[in-house]
Amino acid sequence: MSREPLLRLTTAGLYCSRGGFHIDPWSPVARAVITHAHGDHAVKSSRTYLTAAPGKMILQHRMGPRAQIQGLAFGQEVDLDGVRVSLHPAGHILGSAQVRVEHKGEVWVVSGDYKVAPDVTCDVFEPVKCDTFITESTFGHEHYHWDHQSVTFATIHDWWQQNQSRGQASILYAYSLGKAQRLTAGLDASIGPIMVHPSVEQISQLYREAGIALPHTRDPNSDAARADWSRSLIIMPPAARWEQGLTFHGHYATAFVSGWMVLPDQATKRGVERGFPLSDHADYSELLSAVAATQAQRILVTHGYISEFVATLKSRGYDATPHSTPRCKRPPAVIV
Ligand SMILES: [Zn+2]
Repeated sequence: MSREPLLRLTTAGLYCSRGGFHIDPWSPVARAVITHAHGDHAVKSSRTYLTAAPGKMILQHRMGPRAQIQGLAFGQEVDLDGVRVSLHPAGHILGSAQVRVEHKGEVWVVSGDYKVAPDVTCDVFEPVKCDTFITESTFGHEHYHWDHQSVTFATIHDWWQQNQSRGQASILYAYSLGKAQRLTAGLDASIGPIMVHPSVEQISQLYREAGIALPHTRDPNSDAARADWSRSLIIMPPAARWEQGLTFHGHYATAFVSGWMVLPDQATKRGVERGFPLSDHADYSELLSAVAATQAQRILVTHGYISEFVATLKSRGYDATPHSTPRCKRPPAVIV
């Protein structure tokens, strides 16, 4: 007789029927366990939410003031109808968590999005031993390798100073939750003023309230910003494409900050002059080290280079299986 797996995919997403909860459901459910507040992991209108305590304010900001959200300290266990659930740092953004699910001695871990490299704006990734590990594979192709972030920041600083010498502001496009704060924290504020789009500032304020030290930032549309325009570095969400509203201040150069910038055509595709590869996701070798650290017998691969990473894991002796969901988008082809 085959037993129902501890977690299975339903029309609303990953579901634990014994515990009566979903993990990162993509439609409203009764009880949602949320790895982090990015839009492809957290949707509005579930009856209750459980998330890691450091990310509670961010999830509340995203889900709305009426959302019923319980914050759980990292490592603390809760019993959901006989299933033990705990959350462990994923190192992706502030409050991002892996979900550990245990029932009758069987342990599954759902990674959510994660990175292993250090980041001062969030808790460092914690390997969690388990029987089955569901891993993301956003950059699960051998082409993806990140330099140490100090190298990337040095390159960004050089670019910023070159732009200053030409009398140009430096506009960096970066996602408003997570990446923008990591950038703000890592930039050298002695080079010039750092300005951020208001949607970034809203999130940065939540980070500051959570005790994350970020340098002072200004609104680029404020009167005070105009005097320092050509010396400034401005962080903007890619969706805003707000630069049109800023042109009256003067000249500027543009760049995009993302792991995808490893691919040579990606900056051009996004209509910017430069690309800086800094990611909140694990690169290929980080994924492999994270998988090994779980000591899991079975690996389910989701979100990213699924077939490529499954093949890699199989070649290394793992029992690896694709775990495709309607949320999984095919990443760009890597031409090498
Ligand atoms: Zn994410």
